Order: sequence, then structure tokens, then C-alpha cells
Amino acid sequence: MPSTRLPHRVLVLGAGLAGVTTAWYLAQAGSEVTVVDRQAGAGLETSFANGGQISVSHPEPWANPAAPMTVLKWLGREDAPLLVRPRLDPDLWRWALAFAVECLPHRAERNTRAIASLARHSRLCLRALRESLDLQYDQRTDGILHLLRTPQEWAEAGRRQAALGWLGITTERLDRAGSVEREPALADDPDPLEGALLAADDESGDAHKFVQALADRARQGGASFRFGREVLSLERSGQRVTGALVRSADGALERLAADAVVLCLGSFSPRLAPAGERLGIYPVKGYSVTVPIIDPARAPRCSLTEESRRIVCSRLGEQMRVAGTAELNGFDLSPNPLRSSSLLDWLDRHFPGVCDRQAATHWCGLRPATPSNIPHIGASRSAGLWLNTGHGTLGWTLACGSAESLVRLMSGGMPEVNFPFRR
Ligand SMILES: Cc1cc2nc3c(=O)[nH]c(=O)nc-3n(C[C@H](O)[C@H](O)[C@H](O)COP(=O)(O)OP(=O)(O)OC[C@H]3O[C@@H](n4cnc5c(N)ncnc54)[C@H](O)[C@@H]3O)c2cc1C
Repeated sequence: MPSTRLPHRVLVLGAGLAGVTTAWYLAQAGSEVTVVDRQAGAGLETSFANGGQISVSHPEPWANPAAPMTVLKWLGREDAPLLVRPRLDPDLWRWALAFAVECLPHRAERNTRAIASLARHSRLCLRALRESLDLQYDQRTDGILHLLRTPQEWAEAGRRQAALGWLGITTERLDRAGSVEREPALADDPDPLEGALLAADDESGDAHKFVQALADRARQGGASFRFGREVLSLERSGQRVTGALVRSADGALERLAADAVVLCLGSFSPRLAPAGERLGIYPVKGYSVTVPIIDPARAPRCSLTEESRRIVCSRLGEQMRVAGTAELNGFDLSPNPLRSSSLLDWLDRHFPGVCDRQAATHWCGLRPATPSNIPHIGASRSAGLWLNTGHGTLGWTLACGSAESLVRLMSGGMPEVNFPFRR
């Protein structure tokens, strides 16, 4: 039974993970949904080739008390996991300042709690969707192993395990033998390994395949998708947002009217947001390589996180995906061979001969990052405009729960998640 408060005609701007999940839940709840995206299909920008992890066990944002020292240590290193290219960009400096504030212990703790709560809910939503719709996206439910290379990382993992436990996230600390038993592919790893923190409930899967499959289901459920259309601006009547002005590839302009508009434009959301709506989202560039597996018996089945290098690795069907690195360099999407080949080097070093390096596909994308890594979910300051954007490093992990929660808020309800939703 559709809620009487749920807006009837809804325009969803953006068809990445955030937009497509929003469209699906809205259509299910009874709205008449139109999704607009400038690309030729769904999930072709940041949601295209991410690390594939549903990593509820990693709710800690980048902004934490240890981050400033880590950033200083890496400064100026072209292959550093986090690279800042200082530039005359007020948005970058504003973001960096806000990031420094979020590193304060009480802020980092609060942010971690909120992300953990939403991530747990989101994993449940993803499972429910997958089962009810029989979605196939090279998903694996073998868990995530957080690799611990040094005695210091091993000791730290004990504290982290306890902290995650307080957040309702179960993990198990495995020594080297236990880790190899869980993931036999680690047996050939030439580097020291103290052990791993196993998050058995975590998952992995191809976000792009998921988005495509869910977009198909949303279409079957009545949502319509208008691809190849650039959103130029929001339409207003007084203070109320009433639609959007879009331009198609042939240059034709069209005004799309709606009772409500949802902003899901990833890193580009601030460009369309009304003045005064400070989203604080900045693009944080990341890289991935996708490499065909040539020796399936020796390829890892569990998803892996190399804690010290911020690298993640997931098996997606017949391929391995390795992703990581963060670069603050505006909207620049030009490839940096050094950064993506360091991901390939990692794969070759730890799993030699498992993949065909020559056939690797290189990719980079812009994480829509807020300084706290807390996305904006809920009402905006303008009537008629809703937000589901700014998911940063965890847009795949948080996608289903964010969209499900947003639709509850749009229906006049309140999600049972301990998260600072915008109302
Ligand atoms: C290297 C890397 C690895 C990652 N690994 C993981 C991981 O393992 N786990 C995890 O949970 N998350 C991961 N992420 C994060 C996750 O991929 C993102 O948070 C998520 O994809 C963001 O989705 P989105 O829908 O907000 O943005 P997008 O996917 O970018 O969608 C925004 C859409 O808006 C459209 N658009 C923008 N502007 C306009 C306009 N003016 N007009 C029309 N259309 C427009 C774009 O075409 C795009 O389709 C990773 C990200 C990167 C870069």
C-alpha cells in the first residue's frame, strides 16, 4: 500500500549505485520514477569498476586521529596510498580543513558508529534484494580478510576487533596458519603475514553488474530511464524544487517536472545543488585494475584488504579486481600509470602467475567524498529536493541501506538506523 506522503512523480538525478537503488525502492513504494543520467547506461562513472567489497567491517573513515601523521608521512610520494596535489582550489582547501576537524577523536568515533550502523542495515537490504530478485552480479559470500603483515598490525587488530564488536560487527582474528586455511591462495605469498582479521559476514560483487541488473528490475517495475541527458539545473517555483532542465546529446533542452527530485550525482552533486546547500563533497580519485584469471585454483576466493597500503582485492567471476589509492586532484580523470601499475605489482607479487597482467584493464573514478565519509541522506534545505549522495569510500557497501532509508524518510517514516539522516 503506497504511503500517502510519498511524492507521486519523482525525478532521480544520476544512475550510479545511489540513483538506481533509490529508483528501485521508490518504484516499489509506488512512486512514478524517472531517472536521468548523462551516460548511455547505468553505473558508468564511479560505480563502474570499484573494489567490489561490501565491507561492513571497515566503518572507520579516512578522517581519524592517526590520519594527519599518515598524510604527512606520504607527502610528496607519487606512489603514496593518499596523494594530495596542492592547487589553487578553494573547494579543496575547505574540504581539507573540514577533514582535519573530522580527525578529532570524538568526531571520528561518532562517524564510525554512524557508518557501521548504516552499513549493517545496508548489507541486510542487499541480501534481501538479491534473494527476492535473484540478482546475479558475480557476488561472493566468502567474507573479507584484512591482512596483517606486522606484529604491530596484529596487536592493533585485537583492539580493532573489540571496537568492531561494540558496533555489532563480528570478526575473528586468525593467525597465519588459520588465514591460509581460510584462504589457501595466501600460501604462496612471499611477504611476511602475521595473520588476518576475518569478517566472515562481509561480501563482494561487481557493483556495475548489480546496478545494471537492478536498473532492469526497476524498469520492469515501472521506472523509466532517460540516458544521454545532461542535467543543467534544477527548476524552481519560489523556494520549491519542481524538476530539472536537461539537455540531450543533440542539444535539445527539456524541462522535466516532478513532485520531488532526488540528487544522486556523486562527485558532481554540489554543482547542481542550490546555493546554500553546503554538501562539502570533493572528488577523491581512485584506481582499479581488472585482470583475467589464468590459474583459477590459485586465485583467492575471499575478498582481501591490504591494511597498510589501503588496497582491496576481489574475485569477480573470471577476473581479479584490485583497487585503491586516493588522490585529491580536482575532477581530473587522466590515468597515472605509476599509480595503477602499483596495483598490478601488488597482485603479481602476492599471487604470482595467477592472472594475465598483459590483459589488465585500467580504470579510475572519483569517489564522492565528504570530509567525514558520512553521506547526505534525507531532506535538503529546499522543499521538493532530497539527497542521497556523498558516499565516498563506501558507496557500494552503503547503497541499498541508504536508498531504503531515504524512501522511508520520503514516506514520512523514520528508518531504524542510528544515523544522522537529514530531516
Ligand atoms: C577505486 C575505487 C574503489 C572503490 N571501492 C569500493 C568498495 O570496494 N566498496 C565500496 O563500498 N565502495 C567502493 N568505492 C566507492 C563507490 O564506488 C562509490 O562511493 C559509488 O560508486 C558512488 O556512487 P554514486 O551513485 O554516488 O556516484 P556515481 O556512480 O558516480 O553516479 C553518479 C551518476 O551521476 C551522473 N551525472 C553526474 N553529473 C551529471 C549531470 N550533470 N547530468 C547527468 N548525469 C550526471 C553520472 O553519469 C553518474 O552515472 C570505490 C570507489 C573507487 C573510485
